[in-house]
Amino acid sequence: LKRLIDSAKARYWTQRGTWVYDNALLLLLKCLWSNVVPECTMASSNTVLMRLVASAYSIAQKAGMIVRRVIAEGDLGIVEKTCATDLQTKADRLAQMSICSSLARKFPKLTIIGEEDLPSEEVDQELIEDSQWEEILKQPCPSQYSAIKEEDLVVWVDPLDGTKEYTEGLLDNVTVLIGIAYEGKAIAGVINQPYYNYEAGPDAVLGRTIWGVLGLGAFGFQLKEVPAGKHIITTTRSHSNKLVTDCVAAMNPDAVLRVGGAGNKIIQLIEGKASAYVFASPGCKKWDTCAPEVILHAVGGKLTDIHGNVLQYHKDVKHMNSAGVLATLRNYDYYASRVPESIKNALVP
Ligand code: AMP
Ligand code: MG
Ligand code: MG
Repeated sequence: LKRLIDSAKARYWTQRGTWVYDNALLLLLKCLWSNVVPECTMASSNTVLMRLVASAYSIAQKAGMIVRRVIAEGDLGIVEKTCATDLQTKADRLAQMSICSSLARKFPKLTIIGEEDLPSEEVDQELIEDSQWEEILKQPCPSQYSAIKEEDLVVWVDPLDGTKEYTEGLLDNVTVLIGIAYEGKAIAGVINQPYYNYEAGPDAVLGRTIWGVLGLGAFGFQLKEVPAGKHIITTTRSHSNKLVTDCVAAMNPDAVLRVGGAGNKIIQLIEGKASAYVFASPGCKKWDTCAPEVILHAVGGKLTDIHGNVLQYHKDVKHMNSAGVLATLRNYDYYASRVPESIKNALVP
C-alpha cells in the first residue's frame, strides 16, 4: 500500500498531473475496499437467495403478527408433544402453516423443514404472505451465492421458539426463526421477535426483525459486547439437567441468565447481555440453531456443538443437536477450553 502511495505521488510530480494521480487514487481505494470487504465482488440482488431472504423477512413478520393475535384472542390451544416441557400451541401451528405455505408458493422447489408435525391440508388464504422486504432486494448478493438454484436450498423453520415461555407470559423470550442452508451450511437467516419492546409502554412499536447473510452482514439490531473480562452465561430455563448445570458451573461465570429460546439467547449474545450460550444437553434441534447461527456468524461470532463441531444442515441430517450448543460472540476458545471431558464424553454428536 505504501509503495502504491509513493509511486502515485512520484508520478504526480513527474508526469502530466492529475490524470495519473486520480487513477492511482482510484486503484488505492479499490485496494483498500478489497482489504476491508474480502468478498467485494457482489452480484445484483435479483438472485434466488436474496429474493428468498426478502420473502422470509416479510413472512416472519406475518408469523410474528399471528403469534401476537393468538395471545390477544386468549385461547392458546396447548398440546403436549413429548412431555410437559415440550409444548405446541395454536400459534406454533398457525405460524408454521403460514410460513411453510407462503415459502412453498413462491419457491416451489425449496426443501422446507418445519418443527411441527401437521396434517397436510389446504391453508387459508388469509395466512399467506406474498410480499418481499424491499430493503433486502436492494442489497447485493455475495458472489459465492449468486449462482445458487432454488432446489439447492434447505429452509429450517421454527415457527415459535420458546413455546414454554410463551405459555407462561414471558413474551420477549419468543422468536420466529427461518434459517437457510446451502451445501449443509447455514448461510442466511431471519429472526422475528414479536414482543420486542412489549414492556416499554403502550406507545412503543412492538416487534422487530433481524436478518443476515454470510459475507454481507447482519441487520436490525445494534451490535454490543459484554464488558471485557466478564463471563455472563445464558442457558436454558425450562430444559435443565445436571449436565447443563455442571457445564455452566465449569465456565466460572460472573452471572448466569436462565431464559427461554435459542433465538432469544443468540440475541442476548449480539446485544451485549451475555458472553456465552452454553447448553450441554440434547434437546435443541436444527430449526433452533440455523437462523440464529447465521446472525451470530455474520458478526464474527461462533456456534458449535459442545465438542466444537460445526453444525450441519443438509436436508437428510438428524434433526437433534445431540451434542448440545456452545456459542459466543467473542472469546470462543476460553469457553470451549472449559467444557469438562466428562461432559464431552456424555454427549455423542
Ligand atoms: P431452551 O433454551 O430450553 O428454550 O431450548 C432451546 C430450544 O431447544 C427450544 O426450542 C426448546 O424447545 C428446545 N429444547 C431444548 N431442550 C429440549 C428438551 N429437553 N425437549 C424439547 N425441546 C427442547
Ligand atoms: Mg425452538
Ligand atoms: Mg418451536
